[in-house]
Amino acid sequence: MTREIIAKNELDFETQGRRDYYVKVEQPTIWGQYLIPVTVIVGPNAEAGKGVVAIGSTHGNEYEGPVAIKHLLKTINTDDVLGRIILIPVLNISAFKAGKRDTPEDGKNLNREFPGDANGTITQKFADIITTYIFPQVHVVLDLHAGGLVCRFPETASFHHVEDEEQFKTMQAVSRGFGCEFTMFYQDETAGLLTSTAEKLGKITIGTELGHGQSVNYAGVEMAKRGILNAAIFSGQLKDIGLPEKIYSDQKLVDGSSARSSMLAPFDGIFEPCCDLGARVNEGDVVAILHQFDRIDEEPLEILASQDGYIITQAWEAIVQQGQTITLIAQLTEWSHS
Ligand SMILES: [Zn+2]
Repeated sequence: MTREIIAKNELDFETQGRRDYYVKVEQPTIWGQYLIPVTVIVGPNAEAGKGVVAIGSTHGNEYEGPVAIKHLLKTINTDDVLGRIILIPVLNISAFKAGKRDTPEDGKNLNREFPGDANGTITQKFADIITTYIFPQVHVVLDLHAGGLVCRFPETASFHHVEDEEQFKTMQAVSRGFGCEFTMFYQDETAGLLTSTAEKLGKITIGTELGHGQSVNYAGVEMAKRGILNAAIFSGQLKDIGLPEKIYSDQKLVDGSSARSSMLAPFDGIFEPCCDLGARVNEGDVVAILHQFDRIDEEPLEILASQDGYIITQAWEAIVQQGQTITLIAQLTEWSHS
């Protein structure tokens, strides 16, 4: 199959059927273009502003999202699509090709540059394509991440607390379709996120953490495929194709939004976790140890749980720096969707 290479303003989101594009973004260094793969599938009941988009590789070294979406490019049957489904397996194609979290050319983190800038740096241009061309076509936004080299997670769906109760409840309901044990809402102070930009536009927005360590986690790929298809079915964009049930039996909504949730390294050191990801801990439990090997005969620092809850994040690499989030403990809370 040959993909059509087009400019961003040539994307057709309206005509019924399937189109597989490469969208051009000018390369800042060589004479040429980066090509972002974008597939648009439009069914007979598509409505203006309604649809689902799934985006992989907002960070270049997170692989479950791209792999899952690549599978769905083959398995979603156009005849089953009722509304609009947009699949973008690799958004930051520059960072992906380099195997890096951030864009090599400008050193920017795409997930800090939203809403983007059509006249900005390459990373800001990637963000602008999503904000200007994709967001107006959809009401459901799925941004598929993993921990990269920064940290590790149990498979987790996520979003922020939003003021609109209906939006908040619907995000909870859609997150259930990913089938994972944990759905977390977390602090919304970080500027420039794809997800918070979509949330502020009223989109039903789900982020995910599908694995870690620059690997491909089997459970994470399965979770992403399941979550995308369920979101498309739930929102009326895809026929109910009878997905096999692989839903964790005791799905938990956890709140990681308080400042207490994030536990920071008080000094540079070697991080030793003392419990498993997803473990239930009580305030005061030893959840990690921080070692300093240039003070090898001194007692290491025991990191005590800041609150009761579940371990949703741990640092991945052993070497951690002062101020880095080394453990996140999220508190169990109640689902509020119907
Ligand atoms: Zn990421």
